[in-house]
Amino acid sequence: MTSSLERLRDTNRRSITSLLAAEGPMSRADLVRGTGLSRTTVSSLVGDLISTGHVVETTDRGRPHKGGSGRPPLLVALSTPAGGVAGVDIGHGHVRVAVADRVGTVLAEETAEVDVDEDGAVALDRAARMVRQALQAAGLELSDLHAVGMCVPAPLDRRSASIRTGILPGWRELTPGDELHRRLGVPVFADNDANLGALAELGQGAARGSSDLVYVKVASGLGAGIVLGGRLHRGASGIAGELGHVQVDEDGQVCRCGNRGCLETLVSAPRLLALLQPAYDVPLSIERILALDDDGDAGVRRVLSDAGRAVGRALADLCNNLNPELVVVGGSLGASTSLGEGIRAAVDRFAQPDTAAALTVVSGDLGDRAEVVGAVSLAIARVSV
Ligand SMILES: [Zn+2]
Repeated sequence: MTSSLERLRDTNRRSITSLLAAEGPMSRADLVRGTGLSRTTVSSLVGDLISTGHVVETTDRGRPHKGGSGRPPLLVALSTPAGGVAGVDIGHGHVRVAVADRVGTVLAEETAEVDVDEDGAVALDRAARMVRQALQAAGLELSDLHAVGMCVPAPLDRRSASIRTGILPGWRELTPGDELHRRLGVPVFADNDANLGALAELGQGAARGSSDLVYVKVASGLGAGIVLGGRLHRGASGIAGELGHVQVDEDGQVCRCGNRGCLETLVSAPRLLALLQPAYDVPLSIERILALDDDGDAGVRRVLSDAGRAVGRALADLCNNLNPELVVVGGSLGASTSLGEGIRAAVDRFAQPDTAAALTVVSGDLGDRAEVVGAVSLAIARVSV
């Protein structure tokens, strides 16, 4: 029978390995600070973990040592099992692939602009080719690949893992995970893009240490990933967080979901570009819009702030119901200051005052890489189960 002392050592060993998984290599002193355990306990548990092969000692912090003269400090790191995993982020207009080792260090990354919405099979062929290219760049073979995590910009039915809605016309009734599995011959786990963005920001980005948050992806589409009590909330059939399809104008533009006046018809990167372009002589891009926002350009600031207010109005209702501590704004437009300010202003205006006071609104740390990083994490989580 396991004694309570052994159970406690188990729990403490897990706090050390989770901290190393989240933070990378650390000194024993940092582990003492990070876990709140005593120096003697940390030293003894690290000894256990080294003898079982779970962790190794290293002087490599993964970044240059800035300590001036003298030897670099001895660190403790999770040992890396052989082989790798891949993350595949399929957006409306791009495919991004990352190949990583088994602890999530990205070894190679590929991005391509692809008209994903038009034809699912073509986009999946391209994604499979990019996985093979990224493996080659990382010095790995297909036989080294343990699993692939992937995301698609549409809700995935929780039971069938297929896309049921018309949001991606060329993907209707496709099961993306099975399709990519057929092309690569390794296990593939699929989820919605905003869900994986939320997981990435929670594990490695702006939401580290939070347990109740909403991740809002503002890109070619608009979606949200909801984390409650530290766990992703997918809902009964897997489609929780469809913030982009909150109706804001009953008689508005027809949305790709088939409804009218959805929030996404007002706030999406292509829509905002189309709104701004007539007032500018040069062709606008998302990068250009973000630069103009930083420069204080009046038109861009107005449009992004209005877009933020529209998102914040819908978020205020969600926040009244869920009482999150954090909203992380991600996607290609997530870094916009005016968008963030607009969201904050509308939440303050429309959410219940105590709900608004408990809430912080920040930009994501991982930018438009959040989804691919989340896809890598999903693959690692499924392999180690
Ligand atoms: Zn819609």
